[in-house]
Amino acid sequence: MNDALSIRDASCADDYDPNSMAVPKAREFIARFLTPVSAIERLHIRAALGRVLAEDVISPLNVPSHDNSAMDGYAVRHADLKADGKVTLKIVGSSFAGAPYAGSVSAGNAVRIMTGGVVPAGADTIVMQEHVKASGDQVTIGSGHKKGQNLRLAGEDLKTGQVALKRGQPIRPAEIGLVASLGIGEISVYRKLRVAFFSTGDELRSIGSTLAEGQIYDSNRYTIHGMLERLGCEVIDMGVVRDDPKLLEQAFRTASETADVVITSGGVSVGEADFVKDLLEKLGEVVFWKIAMKPGRPLAYGRVGKAHFFGLPGNPVSVMVTFYQFVRDAMLKLAGQDPVPPLPSFKMPCTSSLKKAPGRTEFQRGILTQDGTGNWSVRVTGEQGSGILRSMSEANCFIILPTEQGNVTPGTLVDVQVMEGVA
Ligand code: AMP
Ligand code: MG
Repeated sequence: MNDALSIRDASCADDYDPNSMAVPKAREFIARFLTPVSAIERLHIRAALGRVLAEDVISPLNVPSHDNSAMDGYAVRHADLKADGKVTLKIVGSSFAGAPYAGSVSAGNAVRIMTGGVVPAGADTIVMQEHVKASGDQVTIGSGHKKGQNLRLAGEDLKTGQVALKRGQPIRPAEIGLVASLGIGEISVYRKLRVAFFSTGDELRSIGSTLAEGQIYDSNRYTIHGMLERLGCEVIDMGVVRDDPKLLEQAFRTASETADVVITSGGVSVGEADFVKDLLEKLGEVVFWKIAMKPGRPLAYGRVGKAHFFGLPGNPVSVMVTFYQFVRDAMLKLAGQDPVPPLPSFKMPCTSSLKKAPGRTEFQRGILTQDGTGNWSVRVTGEQGSGILRSMSEANCFIILPTEQGNVTPGTLVDVQVMEGVA
């Protein structure tokens, strides 16, 4: 992260309000201070799934390596074909994938060829087998074939020396396959981002203990763990830390010494803010405390020691919403992904009526469904309380309602963002 000075610079901006940051502004401010990891590891391509490429992959060969056939059919010389009638050619051999025809095709001849078979010397056109009549060693071909048809040319996908994949590219199955197709077995990727996290709250108990009155099980550490794992981070689970300044300070120090990013949940809402606030003034700096969004209004962002810091709200739904809307992109950027495209959203008719007061961006939980005629629409999950984690489990999308939006009547088009597959 940049030094303290740049955080102060940010605070000089006209529209800077650390206690009510608009959603797009918050994204901008977060992006400003992110310094991606730089350490590199060499990995076998299979082990690189989910990692980020640390250098360009240059193609050491042409892909495809030879002109080859895109169809099962016959390799011919276009000059032998008639513009307005049939011609009969002699089949002199075959070219199958992996077993090319050794000779060359001279006038009046054709070679039987299969998809992926190398186009033999002399031939310049492939005629699909469905368009010919073959009998014994003869093939009869009609008119209307274009020179060069059904040929995949050497290097048409990639040429030797060309950049096949760019630094910053996340490695998905397609990239692993592409690298393998170049004969490359190892690639350079960035090291994993190290993320330490802990829950705060005297009321929290861990799974396995019995709850006394007023106590609840800690669930945020489990959702945060899951979301970080899906992003390919190295996770350091520091457990539950009680609402005690000494213990919190110790936890913040340990976390920031071991991790690139520190994530906490709870303890940043009204009444508790000053507690963490004092600590962060001592140990780091905070760019903003609150975002004009629902759920998730209390969201602190800054640094603690040398680590980036996200102080997520305590409410379980708010934790997930703020993570998907802010932390996810930041983690990907810090892990070296470049660019990090915004999550796509699209308009859908909403079949529910939605309650919404202007003033904040809302992220309601929605269910996208397809009706019997194949049309998609979205409805709300039901109660939208920020403590109702079941609403996240039932949902498969966010319904995003912009700041100025008021109540929504059924049939209105709303912005929808699909949740699955985003992390
Ligand atoms: P706080 O921001 O600490 O005031 O927490 C807001 C609400 O979220 C309270 O009802 C907390 O009990 C609840 N909460 C905080 N942390 C967790 C957690 N780790 N798991 C489940 N609920 C939590
Ligand atoms: Mg608390």
